[in-house]
Amino acid sequence: MHPWIRRRLALALLVCAPLAAEVRSLTILHTNDLHARMMPLENHHGGFAFLATVIRHERAGCHDCILLNAGDVAQGSPVSTIFHGLPVFELINLFGYDVGTLGNHDFDYGWMQARKFIQISNYPIVSSNVVGAEGQLFASKGYVILQVNGLRVAVIGAMTDDLKSLTTPKLMEQWHTTPVLATARKLARELKAQSDLIILLGHITTQEELQFLADAPEIPVLVTGHAHNGLPQPLVRDGRILVRVKGYAEELGRLELKVDTTTKAPVDYTWKHIPIDSTSTAPAADVAAIVKHWEDEVRARVDIPLAVSARAFDKREVRGLIEQAMRTQTGANFAFMNSGGVRDIVPKGQLLVRHIWDIMPFDNRVVVGTFKGRDLPAVVLGGRQIEPGRDYTLAVSDFTAANQSSADGLHTAGLQFPNDAGLLRDILIDWFRKKKLIE
Ligand SMILES: [Zn+2]
Repeated sequence: MHPWIRRRLALALLVCAPLAAEVRSLTILHTNDLHARMMPLENHHGGFAFLATVIRHERAGCHDCILLNAGDVAQGSPVSTIFHGLPVFELINLFGYDVGTLGNHDFDYGWMQARKFIQISNYPIVSSNVVGAEGQLFASKGYVILQVNGLRVAVIGAMTDDLKSLTTPKLMEQWHTTPVLATARKLARELKAQSDLIILLGHITTQEELQFLADAPEIPVLVTGHAHNGLPQPLVRDGRILVRVKGYAEELGRLELKVDTTTKAPVDYTWKHIPIDSTSTAPAADVAAIVKHWEDEVRARVDIPLAVSARAFDKREVRGLIEQAMRTQTGANFAFMNSGGVRDIVPKGQLLVRHIWDIMPFDNRVVVGTFKGRDLPAVVLGGRQIEPGRDYTLAVSDFTAANQSSADGLHTAGLQFPNDAGLLRDILIDWFRKKKLIE
């Protein structure tokens, strides 16, 4: 054979020969929906100082570990409400996140405050589909590519399409979402050549989770949040894997992957959700000190005896209590509280102002409107008889007034609520205090 031909043949073989399949490991530690619950819950689970200990334990000596956070860091405790979320973001800088994304509640103090959260975080916060009027990204980064154990890991941030109905126009101004599935899929296709694995870090609804699994073959691994209940085991479809843990720092997820760098997909996985048990874990001293500092700051304001509860009330019953309080305190004929706005139970025994903050961490206001009986939304009637031509007053939160047509709302639109009756939380505190015994 002519040497030139031989050379060409060798070159052709070199080009055509498939690269040897290489399998590399990657471990993803993950949290979601921390919701400012810096202290352990009533069930002794959670607590940031205890979560920090578990994170550090899992990470010790781990050469292929990354730590991800799937949004909703803020909102859920007096510290967050009083100081508008900043201490919570400062504190979780000690956890050592590699990437985070924003949740809908990270916008609860307005978009400018969410910008501050991004600025003070010591890790990148990515969001590919929250954009402004000109299509500019809110978070400046839609994705990052991490180098881990010889793998190029692309992490794409994503926000639920429901963002609009989970916030108010006043909080968001120009910022809105582009369709989450289409945006993330397009980005994943663009990133395929320059990465070995694509992960969606999504703050998305459970319905959207299933859509991604079914319709986004470009995205083999999904780490999500928004639903606060953790999964018992990963959701898997056609080899694609989705994981989510319990919110309020009750769990840390650990997903161990074997990634094929040729197919750019996992060939094997194991997942566990590690409970954060404050009764059997030592608190991380650095985190505990800062938690104590902020808790001391708010203690004088919230650890004040308020009333006694004869029994525990679940969230559905608490919703009824809130509607009672709204009616009594405003004198309205009807009241409506959206169930998603009820953030905690009422425990049995001594109630503190703190409990009301936990139930109602939002700075929502109560607004009242007057309507003819025939115009009252059916969801507020609760079986009561009304006269179509008579005037009735209806009290709702300003969140409900801004999102009347949402699934969790009045199933109507265009009702006007011109009278402001004050902060819902203050109204609740006042009602509980006067009532003394809740039964
Ligand atoms: Zn959320």
